[in-house]
Amino acid sequence: MKSVVVCICLCFSLLVSGCGVKSVETIESSSVPSGNTPVEAKPESAVPNVEQTATIAVYRKPAAPIPTQKVEPKKPVICIEAGHQVKGNSELEPNAPGSKTMKQKVLSGTQGIKTKKPEYQLNLEVALKLEKRLNPDYKVIMVRRSNEVDISNSERAIFCNKANADLMIRLHADGSDNHKVKGMSFLYPSLDSKYTSKVAKKSLEVIKVVSKYVIQETGAQSNGLKPRTDLTGFNWLEIPSILIEMGFMTNLEEDVLMSKPEYQDKIVAGIKAGLDSYYSY
Ligand SMILES: [Zn+2]
Repeated sequence: MKSVVVCICLCFSLLVSGCGVKSVETIESSSVPSGNTPVEAKPESAVPNVEQTATIAVYRKPAAPIPTQKVEPKKPVICIEAGHQVKGNSELEPNAPGSKTMKQKVLSGTQGIKTKKPEYQLNLEVALKLEKRLNPDYKVIMVRRSNEVDISNSERAIFCNKANADLMIRLHADGSDNHKVKGMSFLYPSLDSKYTSKVAKKSLEVIKVVSKYVIQETGAQSNGLKPRTDLTGFNWLEIPSILIEMGFMTNLEEDVLMSKPEYQDKIVAGIKAGLDSYYSY
């Protein structure tokens, strides 16, 4: 009887130990560690264990997100004003905020001695080319795209103020009774006026650079940088501004030259190169 009991016990313990081996394997293969530590897979054969692979995939650390949007640097905002308009407006407006000095709202400008082209038309031609050339490196805002407008000089300045522009570029051409006079002039708001002093320093910095490139590009004669206290279009400004007198329409040679698309391209290229240099593009 005793031997029978011992035999039964032995058989039972053998059975239990066999199950024990199996249970250990089960725990190792299905145990899930806490945290993000990936499970080290040690497959016993070349055939991948599907369950193990699936477990590893779930606990693998997610890859860092790939940025999909490039952050663009802020573009300088350039407000371009083609001087004058088809019909002058002889009504008066203060030449500065709170000023008692009254000036005509806007004039129609000079005219080509040979081409007979009005100044407002020449200014617009170059302004539209400049807009094209500055886009898309700059954010360009146009005061006017047509000659058939009625916008006073103070309104033009206020328009660019409201656009929060970094710079207002004013395009004009000169006229003189002396038909021999020629060359480009570069006007900017004066340091010596209470209306313009706040924007004068930066305007001077820009016009120094732009004038250099425009003269270099066109080969025109430079009549220099000219600070102004009397221009309504400067006095109302809260942002820096430069005004380029592109040449004399009363000089036969320059009148013809300024109407040539290739020469207009040179003026525009010079302005762009100057701005690129100033804004470090
Ligand atoms: Zn003009």
